[in-house]
Amino acid sequence: SLTLGIVGLPNVGKSTLFNALTQNEVLAANYPFATIEPNVGVVPLPDTRLDRLAEIFSSQRTVPAVVSFVDIAGIVKGASEGAGMGNQFLANIREANAICQVIRVFDDPDVVHVEGTVDPADDIETINTELILADMQTVEKALPRLEKEARTHKDRRAALAVTQQARDILDAGRTLFSAQAEIDLAELRELSLLTAKPFLYVFNADEAVLTNETRIKELREMVAPADAVFLDAKVEAELLELDEESTRELLESIGQTEPGLYSLARAGFHTLGLQTYLTAGPKEARAWTIGRGWTAPQAAGVIHTDFERGFIKAEIVSFDDLISAGSMAEAKAAGRVRMEGKDYLMADGDVVEFRFNV
Ligand code: GDP
Repeated sequence: SLTLGIVGLPNVGKSTLFNALTQNEVLAANYPFATIEPNVGVVPLPDTRLDRLAEIFSSQRTVPAVVSFVDIAGIVKGASEGAGMGNQFLANIREANAICQVIRVFDDPDVVHVEGTVDPADDIETINTELILADMQTVEKALPRLEKEARTHKDRRAALAVTQQARDILDAGRTLFSAQAEIDLAELRELSLLTAKPFLYVFNADEAVLTNETRIKELREMVAPADAVFLDAKVEAELLELDEESTRELLESIGQTEPGLYSLARAGFHTLGLQTYLTAGPKEARAWTIGRGWTAPQAAGVIHTDFERGFIKAEIVSFDDLISAGSMAEAKAAGRVRMEGKDYLMADGDVVEFRFNV
């Protein structure tokens, strides 16, 4: 499955956040989730739609989709110079499908900042510089080969041109992801460049930041087009010990309406380019993970490969239509249930029943 690699400078709260992610029983309710390896956290994607579906279909349980986070330990500064740990660090990032960067914006005289002061722009630059330098090495190595290929194979000219363009962006100290409006990242896929992966920024903040809309807006703009999540990792860890009422009170006191881990799971899922569709019956109401732009047969294949092979059609109602109708029978009577064929592109929140041959 697709994963987000958690990276950041030392002492920014990565372990605190990762531990909260892997120990969150509220998020994990009814889901047999597991920490597969000590550094992988599989987190259920909060989805209130499943409870509504379970009511309508009298389902016995709900099964949410999941998001996987990998804790990528290791040094950051100097990583691109390739010393031991640095190489391993970059190799681990290369395996992740997206980069989840944790940035410290909390003030705490008791927690030493490696660079001396809390400066998010500076910290982001420190990390991104290492990733950019690693990409520059990859690109410089690939260019002579691509130039040669392009001389003899016309169809390699596009790959060469886009790689030259990537070099210029990296030379300017920018990540490729942040330049996605200018460059065709799909054309670069063969080089597995680190900064071409989708980025998500987690600002580990304190109450002063969490309640300061201007500051939040500023930080959001700083990392756009990447998504940004604001949370207090220490509070998230404390929430795990609390009952529902105390959780609500603590969140309110820092100006939040839901645990930051919920926003993080959603943002992570979205950053990976994933979406869900829903199925429901007496046994379970369930969210299934698919990519954006997937067709109905591809989506059916996530349940069972036979469903994809024997696909005939899909009976689909959007979640909102189903809720406003109140039941499947009434949604049908109101003409809100559609029969879709093999070219149908799935939409997030489609409630589906597949028809197939076995
Ligand atoms: P890592 O090195 O990035 O994994 O950072 P840790 O999770 O080990 O955190 C470093 C220190 O900062 C620990 O003492 C944490 O308790 C503390 N810490 C982590 N998150 C927060 C936070 O949101 N606020 C405050 N005040 N301290 C935090």
